[in-house]
Amino acid sequence: MNKPNFAIVTGKQYIFAFEEGDGKNKMLLGGKGANLCEMTQIGLNVPPGFTVTTEACLAYLEKKQLPAGLMDDIRRHMAALEKKTGKDFGGSTNPLLVSVRSGSAMSMPGMMDTILNLGLNESSLAGLIKQTANPRFGWDAYRRFIQLFGKIALGVADEHFDERMGFVKRKYGARLDLDLDAEHLKELAGEFLNVVKRHTGKPFPQDPYEQLEISVGAVFRSWMGKRAVDYRKQFKITKDMADGTAVSVCTMVFGNMGDDSGTGVGFTRNPGTGENVIYGEYLVNAQGEDVVAGIRTPKPIAELEREMPEIHRQLIELQNRLESHYHEVQDFEFTIERGTLYCLQTRNAKMNARAMVRTSVEMFGEGLISKERALLRVEPAMLEQLLVPQLSPDFRGKCLAQGLPASPGAASGKIVFDANTAEARGMAGEKVILVREETKPEDIHGFFQAQGILTSRGGKTSHAAVVARGMGKPCVSGCEQIAIDDKARSAMIGETTLHEGDVITIDGGTGHVYAGEVPTVEAAFSGEMVTLLAWADKEARLQVMANADTPEDATRAREFGAVGIGLVRTERMFNSTDRLPIVQEMILAETQEERQAALDRLLPIQRSDFKGIFKAMRGLPVTVRLLDPPMHEFLPTAAQLELEIAHLHQLRDSIGALKDLPDTLKLLNPKLYQQYADGLRKLVGGLHTFEESHLEEDVIHRKETVLKKVRSLEEVNPMLGHRGVRLGISYPEIYSMQIQAILEAAALCAKEGVKIHPEIMVPQVATVEELKRIHGHVQRIHKVVELTHGINVNVKFGTMLEVVRACLRAGRMAQDAEFFSFGTNDLTQATFSFSREDAENKFLAAYNETGILQDNPFEVLDIKGVGQLMKMAVEDGRRTRPDLKIGICGEHGGDPVSIGFCHQIGIDYVSCSGPRVPVARLAAAQAKLLEAK
Ligand code: PEP
Ligand code: MG
Repeated sequence: MNKPNFAIVTGKQYIFAFEEGDGKNKMLLGGKGANLCEMTQIGLNVPPGFTVTTEACLAYLEKKQLPAGLMDDIRRHMAALEKKTGKDFGGSTNPLLVSVRSGSAMSMPGMMDTILNLGLNESSLAGLIKQTANPRFGWDAYRRFIQLFGKIALGVADEHFDERMGFVKRKYGARLDLDLDAEHLKELAGEFLNVVKRHTGKPFPQDPYEQLEISVGAVFRSWMGKRAVDYRKQFKITKDMADGTAVSVCTMVFGNMGDDSGTGVGFTRNPGTGENVIYGEYLVNAQGEDVVAGIRTPKPIAELEREMPEIHRQLIELQNRLESHYHEVQDFEFTIERGTLYCLQTRNAKMNARAMVRTSVEMFGEGLISKERALLRVEPAMLEQLLVPQLSPDFRGKCLAQGLPASPGAASGKIVFDANTAEARGMAGEKVILVREETKPEDIHGFFQAQGILTSRGGKTSHAAVVARGMGKPCVSGCEQIAIDDKARSAMIGETTLHEGDVITIDGGTGHVYAGEVPTVEAAFSGEMVTLLAWADKEARLQVMANADTPEDATRAREFGAVGIGLVRTERMFNSTDRLPIVQEMILAETQEERQAALDRLLPIQRSDFKGIFKAMRGLPVTVRLLDPPMHEFLPTAAQLELEIAHLHQLRDSIGALKDLPDTLKLLNPKLYQQYADGLRKLVGGLHTFEESHLEEDVIHRKETVLKKVRSLEEVNPMLGHRGVRLGISYPEIYSMQIQAILEAAALCAKEGVKIHPEIMVPQVATVEELKRIHGHVQRIHKVVELTHGINVNVKFGTMLEVVRACLRAGRMAQDAEFFSFGTNDLTQATFSFSREDAENKFLAAYNETGILQDNPFEVLDIKGVGQLMKMAVEDGRRTRPDLKIGICGEHGGDPVSIGFCHQIGIDYVSCSGPRVPVARLAAAQAKLLEAK
């Protein structure tokens, strides 16, 4: 078309036809407008149209009126559209109808307004009805347009239209909108026209240009509408990111103009599997709404090959053209109007993890994308989905409650409310889900036997979440809708009561909880995933290790591609049922000899645990951390013991009372006594024997001793109390036993020819002197072990950096430590002076909602605070010891953003739970690739 006489007054070009707009300039044309221009210019058959720029919007908002000359320009562009389409705007035989769509530089779904079928009036409606031979469609389109235009452009509230709709439906006994026929809809359109007149004081505008002018202004105004303003505030969309909305005016095309018309949606590849075949659905002689309404079942695109072979050929051509232009899988909408295929929209397709991985590998193979792009386009966190069972993709059920997605994967099982029952029923072969308010270290045996864990309190880094992730088991945490009644052994979710033994399903990937068993599909580590991760490993500088506490976890982590174990938490082993009594003996010991006796029994157990892990990780480093938690974590609580002791006292009193039963009965009812005399004699005999055995007294005595110890161990602030290296200093024999077990396990492996690289790590170190003392024990025991076993054992000695002071003394720490491992869970608590559990249970959500904190710092590393401490410690440590090995083993080691930061500050490795290893491998590669940018 001839270049119109643009904006004579303002000197600015406010309108661009799709053929001329710069498809890259989203700031000016909005995302939608730019996309329509780009599609048009790469030769796709887009219904013709034009975009009014965001600059026009800003000018409108400033002056509260359309810029001078704008409507003249719009008229010229409309005339050009009429020419291109051969249709007539407002005409009665072949009417041109348009959509008026908003669209800013940033996508703000549903926030601003769009008007369809603009140009409809009494005469163009007649034309549309004639063309479609479908009066019902025509009247339906008209009444929808009146309502949409009335609401958006004229500000008439929906309720007035809804009220009339209700009236007409009642009048004709229609249950659904669909039950209304053409005549009813015609009547409804009349009602709607009256509504507009009543509320605006003017008749509904029949002049299509008047409709257009009002609509453009209304769409512009919607930029400052409350919805849009709130949305921008919420998602922090600044003026640099999007300023004003553009308006795209696009020719309407109709898929319901007969059997040579239709509508559909397509993907250039299968978004569920990633397979390189065109995928999608269509309906002949239908509008997009019919697909959404689900009245007719759409057919797969493959059938179009038979039904409309030429259109199918064009769709394949479209598929190729889209991919070769966008270099990405596309999700597109199309309409066929009387044998002509139109592409209405295209965007990057959303795919599941499996499809993303497959398409990355295949598109690289086809030369469509570079290896770099193949690695960068997959969001690392997605990969976790692929390594755990998932809910069947066909499942459409409604969930019962929603908690936090704390550890991915889906699992079904019978509800149990405590760890002992979980263990007992699990061992008996039942599938169970452990449901608790929150879990504690002493629940660990329940975790081993449970399919999954559901807690009503706690965040994504609560004990339940961390332990479940480590084990690769699904976990939903913080599901506050569930009220658990431990005593009644039931849980309430809204109106539903669940009892122990009832089956539920949890999806730790979404946080959903379902009643009953939902089918799941198994995870698979596909060939494409192996390929993609191998590329990632080649690219990455950071190495990825795993946190694992048992040989089984270690083996799994290795399968996931971990190149070592960065953290073995020894206390997890202490908590299993066969060890806990010995650990308790050790804690309860009154003398050093008694303690040593318990430690002597623990030594072989720990040695064999370590041997198992070393063997599983042969050839790779394994970092074992010495005992960390405070002792009381291995003992029952005072409250629990008090309750048990009270019960035992009651039992003793009851036995006393029972002994008097025969005499009492004899007195009260001698006949009855005679009847039961034999049994009563036996009962009393039994009670005597029981009393003489002093069984309950022994138990009471034992429990009272434990209670005394528990009270003496009680701390105001256990997490800042007697734990970690402080315990190792107070009870050197405990750490010595562990050091001996590690080194002997290493010696035994070495003798068997198993290559191992053990590392001993000290937790909670705050002062150099603490580290030096433990280093002294290691050096002494190391010599003894080498001498007694007659073999060299290479071991590295290092420290965790999880105390602020240790970071400040990193330079000096590195004199003793050959490696550092940042324990960012504790370091985050220490830096913020937040207790993790209290923060997550009480105020963190509000902090995030109100923007005081952007993320949960226990999930995503706080780069500005904790990160700076780390950066400083890395620099100071390396100044002392340039080859200092540095890693991170807090939960952040599996978080892609945190991994990016670790890469930047020159850390050597990250360590995370097994199933997050693939996530971390990809994130490490992306960190390197993005650094280059
Ligand atoms: C840490 O503090 O980051 C850490 C790994 O130790 P834990 O989580 O066992 O306290
Ligand atoms: Mg710690």
